[in-house]
Amino acid sequence: MLKINGKTKLVGIMGYPLEHTLSPIFHNAAFNYLDLNWCYIPIPVEEKFFDKAKEGIRVIKNFVGVNITMPYKEKVLPCLDEISSYAQVIGAVNTIHIVDNGRLVGYNTDGRGFLTALSQDGGFNPKNKNVLIIGAGGASRAVAVSLALSGIKKLKILNRTLDKAEAIRSKIISNFACEVEIFNFQSNLENCFSSIDLIVNATPVGMVKEEYPFPVELISREHFVCDLIYEPLETPLIRAAKEKGAKTLNGLNMLLYQGAAAFKIWTHIDPPIEVMRKALEDALELKKN
Ligand code: NAP
Repeated sequence: MLKINGKTKLVGIMGYPLEHTLSPIFHNAAFNYLDLNWCYIPIPVEEKFFDKAKEGIRVIKNFVGVNITMPYKEKVLPCLDEISSYAQVIGAVNTIHIVDNGRLVGYNTDGRGFLTALSQDGGFNPKNKNVLIIGAGGASRAVAVSLALSGIKKLKILNRTLDKAEAIRSKIISNFACEVEIFNFQSNLENCFSSIDLIVNATPVGMVKEEYPFPVELISREHFVCDLIYEPLETPLIRAAKEKGAKTLNGLNMLLYQGAAAFKIWTHIDPPIEVMRKALEDALELKKN
C-alpha cells in the first residue's frame, strides 16, 4: 500500500483533460511493488493556467518530474532549461525531470517506447525496412524520428492534411539519410501501400466506430501492422490485419515502455515491466466491463 507522508516523492502527468489517463495506475503499481515512497498523480491543467502550473512544479520541493501530455507536448518546450537532443529533433517533450532545485530537463520517451515495443514485443527489427505511417500528428513525428534513427530505408507518410506530412518529411530528410514520400487519402493508395514492411496507424481512427479513410483491404500478410491505439486493444485495423495473417502490435506496449522509460529517468531504478503491464491490462479490462 502507498503511504503518503512528508518524505513522499511526487511525479505525475500534466495535460487536459486527464479523466482517462492510465499512467497513475501503472506507475503507482511499480512504486508499490518496489516499496518506494513515491506517488504518481494526475495534474489536470486548463490551457489558461498552463504557464502558472509549469512554474509551480519547479518550486514544489518533493516534485521529481512530470509526464506531459496533450495539448502541451510542444507548448512546453520554451519553458524548459534543457532538452535532450532526441526530444529536440522530435520537437516535443513528454517527460520532465526536475533537477538541482528546479531546473526542468525535457525528454521524449514516446519514440523510445514505440521502438522497445516493436523490437521486444513485436520481434521486428526496423533496420533497412520500408515503413508507412498513417497520420502526421505528435505521435507520428515521434515514431518517424525513432524509426529514422533506427536506420529504416524508406518512409511513406499518409495523412489527411498534406502540409503536416510535409513538415515531418522535411524534419526527417534534414536530419537523417532516409527517403521520405508523402501521400494524402486522394493519392494512389496502392502505390502508397506497395513494398511496405511496417504499417503504423498514428491516427485516432479506430478508437470509436468510424470508417478508415483508406481501404483496409490493402493490408496483406507480408505487412507488420502496428496501431498506436490501446483502447480498444483490438481495433478494426488490427482485427483486419490478423484476418489477413499479418503480424500485429497494439498501442499498449508503447504506452507501457514510454512510461517505463520515464520511470527510469526519475528514479534511476529499472522499472518492473511485468508489474506495470499487468496493472495496465487489469485497468483496461475493468474499463471494458
Ligand atoms: P494528433 O497530434 O492530434 O494527430 C492526429 C493525427 O490523426 C493527425 O495527423 C490527423 O490528421 C489524423 N486524424 C485525426 N482524425 C482523423 C480522421 N478522422 N481521418 C483521418 N485522419 C485523422 O494526435 P497524436 O498525439 O499524434 O495521437 C495519435 C494517436 O496515437 C491517438 O490515437 C493516440 O491515442 C495514439 N497515441 C498512443 C500512444 C501510446 O503510447 N500508445 C502515444 C501517443 C499517441 P490531420 O493532420 O489531417 O489533422
